[in-house]
Amino acid sequence: ASAFNAAVEKGRPLNAWLVETPDHALAAADAADAARASGDLKPLSGVPLGIKDLFCTKGVETTAASGILKGFVPQYESTITSKLFGAGAGMLGKLNMDQFAMGSSNETSAFGDVISPWKRNDGGNAALAPGGSSGGSSAAVSARMAPGVTGTDTGGSIRQPAAFTGISGIKPTYGRCSRWGVVAFASSLDQAGPMAKDVRDCAIMLEAMSGFDPKDATSLDLPVPAWEKGLSGDLKGKRVGIPREYRVDNMPAEIEALWEQGIAWAKDAGAEIVEVSLPHTKYALPTYYIIAPAEASSNLARYDGVRYGLRDLPDGANLQEMYAATRADGFGAEVKRRIMIGTYVLSAGFYDAYFTKAQKVRSLIVRDFEQAFEKCDVLLTPTAPSAAFGLGEKSADPIAMYLNDVFTVPSSLAGLPAMSVPGGLDGQGLPLGLQIIGRPLDEQGVLNAGLAIE
Ligand code: GLN
Repeated sequence: ASAFNAAVEKGRPLNAWLVETPDHALAAADAADAARASGDLKPLSGVPLGIKDLFCTKGVETTAASGILKGFVPQYESTITSKLFGAGAGMLGKLNMDQFAMGSSNETSAFGDVISPWKRNDGGNAALAPGGSSGGSSAAVSARMAPGVTGTDTGGSIRQPAAFTGISGIKPTYGRCSRWGVVAFASSLDQAGPMAKDVRDCAIMLEAMSGFDPKDATSLDLPVPAWEKGLSGDLKGKRVGIPREYRVDNMPAEIEALWEQGIAWAKDAGAEIVEVSLPHTKYALPTYYIIAPAEASSNLARYDGVRYGLRDLPDGANLQEMYAATRADGFGAEVKRRIMIGTYVLSAGFYDAYFTKAQKVRSLIVRDFEQAFEKCDVLLTPTAPSAAFGLGEKSADPIAMYLNDVFTVPSSLAGLPAMSVPGGLDGQGLPLGLQIIGRPLDEQGVLNAGLAIE
């Protein structure tokens, strides 16, 4: 209990937690003591986890960091959290995030920014972004407030915050982790995954989180491999692909150097390095920022002031006016921007020009990866084009913010497993992340390459 309280105290200034649930974590710790006594330990017995507030937790307020879900207390447990608790884990609390997981800096939360525990070493005291959307998650692990946390990744929200805070995180193949009970953002892209201090801890958590769920129509009915047992940092006989198109214009020298370092580590581990081409890379970002908002605009239609959370009922208002008041009040600016973009690209006059076109380009991006994986086993790239930026630095310019996702969205569009592992520090002493992308269902290959270079 006292260790828990100390961790909570330490974390308060970072604003990482939206709800604290010490009793849940302590009950799991007690259960672990009993299990140890009876020789009955489970894979996560007693491990206190942080849960991103996108996961519905039974009896515990779940808001997706949005005003529109204020006061929403789910009567059901998400499949992922019930699997984690079934494996013995406890919950320390619910973690702050970008509102509805839309953002790359945790600045779209209705409950305030999360502050990264990292500082630049130039003596300045600027508050840095922990990345997003899983910014509470990354801050909690990197400040050592929780040994592991859940994240979700639609276009990079596990990998980019992991990179910004010097931790590891993996987005598995689309369909590995059930989306049931996870507040939906863009359903064809959303995937849950673990974030933790290193690759091994990610492997242990991912095993507990994965598996078929009949309640999610896109869940994969496949056995869960023993990823932790299969871990090996030996890359002998493996080909690591370096995609030429990821050498984007104006790439900072530090990111170039990080990439070279990652290549050297992969070689040291025995890998053969091959150059590959993903010719449609430059279309991935615009494609993502059509498809994700389109799906979001449809998913978010359910927040009508009747079924969940907030209801604004001005005096004498009719039903339409109640909808409008609730949505105007409850959604943040970035969420409204996405709904506007999404309804626009889906509208009768523009559907073919934008949405259909984006779906076609998505297929080309999938094909790019298929062809690249004929020549290599995994791909190695930087996770993000920069280290953590300052809070407020990009929040006024949505395009600058979206550009931060340039290396993470292509693999999301293709549904591939992808991971970020720490790759060292930049000149300011800030962490940089290296990304490993694998073939569909080859989480083992991704984890092994991650282990070799972390
Ligand atoms: N930053 C991206 C976005 O804003 C990705 C977010 C995510 O993966 N949830 O859409």
